[in-house]
Amino acid sequence: MRAEQVRKLIVAIDGPAGAGKSTVAKRVAKEMGYTYMDTGAMYRAFAWRVMKEGLDLKNDGALRKALRDTRIELAERDGRAQVLLNGTDVSEWIRTPELSQMASRVSTSKIVRERMVELQREMGSKGGVVAEGRDIGTVVFPNAEVKIYLDASSPERARRRFEELRSRGDRVDMAGTRGEMEERDRRDRERDVAPLRPAEDALVIDSTVVDVDSVVERIMEEIKRKISLIH
Ligand code: C5P
Repeated sequence: MRAEQVRKLIVAIDGPAGAGKSTVAKRVAKEMGYTYMDTGAMYRAFAWRVMKEGLDLKNDGALRKALRDTRIELAERDGRAQVLLNGTDVSEWIRTPELSQMASRVSTSKIVRERMVELQREMGSKGGVVAEGRDIGTVVFPNAEVKIYLDASSPERARRRFEELRSRGDRVDMAGTRGEMEERDRRDRERDVAPLRPAEDALVIDSTVVDVDSVVERIMEEIKRKISLIH
């Protein structure tokens, strides 16, 4: 079969913070020649605007207005994933612990989620995407051909997050990082709209003691299996 005849799939990767979604999703996207879609970066970008402008999350009118004139684009430059907010590259500003908490608060809003889901569906309309987030397999792309729920133990996820922040030069401590992560996970799991949970048909992978290569390999097997069933 010629490459251009192979239908491009949607690969959904959900899971809590620090489970390894970004690393794995980027690798899978590269191997497949698909687009990597970091939906968390979209919530973070909007949260950055909310914080900068001091918007009240309870004020639906203000949120709607801000969403109407917010353009969020995911791009790639020099091999690095970028997020643009109204044309400004905010990628470097949205990875702080403060923004993680803000993104998690902002993402409890139904109004915000509706807009983000709409944008994400537009981006994925032609298939050929690896999308990572919290609600990709359950809400954004319920018909995704491949659904993965990537998890790891809480101490291991906190350790990874801590290393990630430290390597960026952030001054963080382990206990604080774990506390921040657990608070965010709790909020993501307990919110009313699109809470974090595995889709019923998701393949659950625990990456606590499994290395990145093995996780990527397992997902690639799953993608190939799905492609062979379709064609
Ligand atoms: O994935 P990341 O840690 O960058 O996401 C930041 C926050 O954005 C999450 O804690 C979650 O609250 C929110 N989010 C979401 N739905 C998604 C992606 C992210 O609610 N699909």
